[in-house]
Amino acid sequence: MLKIGIDIGGTNLAGGVVDDQGKVIVTDSIPTKADEGYEAVLGRIIQLVNILREKAKEEYPDQQIDAVGCGVPGIVKNGVVINAVNLHWKNVPLAKDLYAAVHIPVTLINDATAAAVAENRFGASKGKDDSVMYTLGTGVGGGIIVNGKVVNGAHGVASELGHVIQEPNFYSCNCGKNGCLETYSSATGIVKQYEHEVEKGLKTDLELEEIAAKDVIDAAREGDEAAVAAFEVMTDQLAKNISNMVDILDPEVFVIGGGVSHAGDFLFDKLKEKAGKNITFKEVVGIPEIVPAQFGNDAGIIGAAYSGEYV
Ligand SMILES: [Zn+2]
Repeated sequence: MLKIGIDIGGTNLAGGVVDDQGKVIVTDSIPTKADEGYEAVLGRIIQLVNILREKAKEEYPDQQIDAVGCGVPGIVKNGVVINAVNLHWKNVPLAKDLYAAVHIPVTLINDATAAAVAENRFGASKGKDDSVMYTLGTGVGGGIIVNGKVVNGAHGVASELGHVIQEPNFYSCNCGKNGCLETYSSATGIVKQYEHEVEKGLKTDLELEEIAAKDVIDAAREGDEAAVAAFEVMTDQLAKNISNMVDILDPEVFVIGGGVSHAGDFLFDKLKEKAGKNITFKEVVGIPEIVPAQFGNDAGIIGAAYSGEYV
């Protein structure tokens, strides 16, 4: 059986047909044009599903498509998009509307949670019933899976790990609160922290016009004073969140995705060391298992395609 995954982004609708090994065998994408409104975007999602279906039929004529999943950048509950700010959607019954047009069961999932599903079904947390994933990008996305199901909450807002308040920070989060994990541990956060350390007078050898998170981490590895300070703050706060999650959920594994996760052992050894210290029952838990994600850009499509098994 094949499944279709659609990753609904603010700019593009990216779709793929995924086989039972988690391989994306057919892809396509069309512009979202969110400003044209829900009905117009729905029409393009239907168009994309039909294009993918036709392509799959040509290349894999004996295979059926039994599910469609949509990864949504916002709050979803029971097939309804409660709120997706970038798309200007509020309370739209996307699953019902899409099903009426394509006649294949449709599931909706938050896009960050979709990445956790991809990792759990085929990647870094495969075979583990309980896992927590952080995606470190512009923001921090979260995905929590307990007993093989995603934790979506009573209102669809669970797993928002990026907006858990850690402690007061020198700047506020886009969500309006102060001290959110994403202001410390996102790619954006580590760059801001680095700039803050330079302003405070810490030495740095980085001479770039545009500094990316990777530059800060690479410089920290080389011992750059301001970069080391920023890296310590970033890992302190993420490790704190991880150890809190152990106290709350005691998952089998933590998965870290997003560009920052390519930092390798330098990042993962530090997180394990720091998180291990703050776990209440550390003599029982030991060093938490923290591993890098295995999927990159495809995670959204693969996770959306298989979301029906997890919602
Ligand atoms: Zn926030």
